[in-house]
Amino acid sequence: MATIGFIGLGNMGLPMAQNLVKSGHVVAGFDLSEYAAERLAVGGGRRANSLLEACANAEIVITMLPAGEQVRDVYLGPQGVLAAAAPRTLLIDSSTIDVDTAREVASAAEARGLPMIDAPVSGGVSGAQAASLTFMVGGPVDAFQRARPVLEKMGKTIVHAGGAGNGQAAKICNNMILGASMIAVSEAFLLAEKLGLEAQKLFEISSKSSGQCWSLTSYCPVPGPVPTSPANRDYKAGFTAAMMLKDLNLAQAAARAARAATPLGAGAAAVYERFVDGGGGSVDFSGIIRYLRGP
Ligand code: NAD
Repeated sequence: MATIGFIGLGNMGLPMAQNLVKSGHVVAGFDLSEYAAERLAVGGGRRANSLLEACANAEIVITMLPAGEQVRDVYLGPQGVLAAAAPRTLLIDSSTIDVDTAREVASAAEARGLPMIDAPVSGGVSGAQAASLTFMVGGPVDAFQRARPVLEKMGKTIVHAGGAGNGQAAKICNNMILGASMIAVSEAFLLAEKLGLEAQKLFEISSKSSGQCWSLTSYCPVPGPVPTSPANRDYKAGFTAAMMLKDLNLAQAAARAARAATPLGAGAAAVYERFVDGGGGSVDFSGIIRYLRGP
């Protein structure tokens, strides 16, 4: 069993760290919020009072932070992980961040002899709690192989996507599909309603036809057809519209830099931006159907 430093114990990080504790690892958790770190300690983890304390004696350091800015600070800052970690410590960043920052931090880590992977996740808070996350991993194969047994305690599907930053590339491409498909499914239900076609009937047909997709069959944006979807609990998140907008904006920034044409991705980002600006940020992202329905 490994000694692990875990930095960032928010909605995702805390249940992920708790699963590592349950599987017998020694986990020292640090978060700017003392309350978060205390909750890890209640479940048998150790509360670290600083980033340095979380890295002390750690064979592996995992981060689960909001965005690229925090990842940059936590790794590259004067008292950061790269300065604090012992040689050969394996670094795993599971935050969703921009590809460029992921590559820059990985290359700074490599220069200090610290193997690093980017390993963003899909599956949300329920996936983090159930240890059923999907990990999309970028980085050297040997670092991936070292990380795999630990990632398996937090997730079910672990895929190596290539070199540094490719985990982030996979994550933003996947979420661009998700954002665009959720809008498309929502528009279809709204049009069906105007045409006098019942939502349940459209679901029965499209879930077995060429319109079938995850946004329809697992996360249906209208109440009824999929009892577990947030539409049945007033669009309580789940995965918030603000988080979706963050990922769509990351995809747009990457598309601009790579000169890739993504007109639907751009449209999806614009629609989510208006929803979030209008106060929908904390609503589940499937609540976009409310915005599309209009006043
Ligand atoms: P969150 O805001 O709940 O948690 C982030 C935590 O990081 C907070 O507790 C915060 O205090 C801590 N933090 C920030 N800066 C810090 C620092 N310098 N040192 C120590 N701790 C610091 O966010 P979350 O929902 O847990 O998401 C984390 C990451 O996972 C994000 O990048 C998000 O895009 C991604 N993600 C989230 C979901 C989801 O459904 N919530 C799903 C997939 C991926």
